[in-house]
Amino acid sequence: MGKRLESRVALITGAGQGIGRAIALRFADEGAKVVVVDIAEASANAVADEIKAAGNEALAAVCDVTQRDQVGALVERVLSAYGQIDILGNNAGITRDARLIKMTEEDFDRVIDVNLKGAFNLAQAVAGPMIERGYGRIISTASVVALYGNFGQTNYVATKAGVIGMTRVWARELGPKGITANAVAPGFIATDMIKTVPEKVIEGMIERTPVRRLGAPEDIAAAYLFLASEEASFVNGIVLSVDGGLVI
Ligand code: NAP
Repeated sequence: MGKRLESRVALITGAGQGIGRAIALRFADEGAKVVVVDIAEASANAVADEIKAAGNEALAAVCDVTQRDQVGALVERVLSAYGQIDILGNNAGITRDARLIKMTEEDFDRVIDVNLKGAFNLAQAVAGPMIERGYGRIISTASVVALYGNFGQTNYVATKAGVIGMTRVWARELGPKGITANAVAPGFIATDMIKTVPEKVIEGMIERTPVRRLGAPEDIAAAYLFLASEEASFVNGIVLSVDGGLVI
């Protein structure tokens, strides 16, 4: 098989580490020009350098997805560098966990801002250029917790359920324009995000996962690649669980 994303331009948020980094590296390997977007400059640069060192094309971009002026400037910059945006990976996300009784308004608002409004900001900013070209793939990182709820995550679960809802709206609105929108729902993936989760909880999750392991960022990147590829052109509005069977 030839490279699956040859001549595509992909913009991935939260790509400085973890799942986003794995998506960026995989997409670059498959021939895409990758815009490595992160709020942290050093990590965005490091991933873009890694891609270039492998002989592929990348652009590092610092952008806080909650800031609409930064998102607008980012899209302008990518369009002037590459002329098009084919794939958006809405992947930046944070947690600020606390039980309902203890959750602060500030923590609720910040998680909504990054995970939900950030995804909206990016999708809205790329939709115009995608509609103009009659082609696009919008893929967003949801979570299994959107499907079953999770202790201590009122804010986070609300955003991930919201991302699934927005994906279905985009699938309907943009499908006729040649653009598909899909979500990936990871189970527990070994990244910095779950470093705050107690060891006992992780062990319990592995026990409840039929394939008996945590996921790797590369497991999620593989699902992203499928949804971004030509093979998925008739896949629209779905939530692809990549969780080892945790939620069946
Ligand atoms: P991660 O290692 O913490 O990576 C998230 C990245 O997003 C970080 O580089 C982070 O930068 C960046 N980011 C945070 N706020 C941002 C903002 N406002 N603008 C732009 N970038 C921002 O987490 P991960 O595990 O790879 O998570 C990636 C996605 O998968 C998230 O949407 C997460 O909710 C989802 N997910 C993860 C799991 C899991 O088990 N790990 C499971 C289900 C879903 P800083 O580090 O500088 O803040």
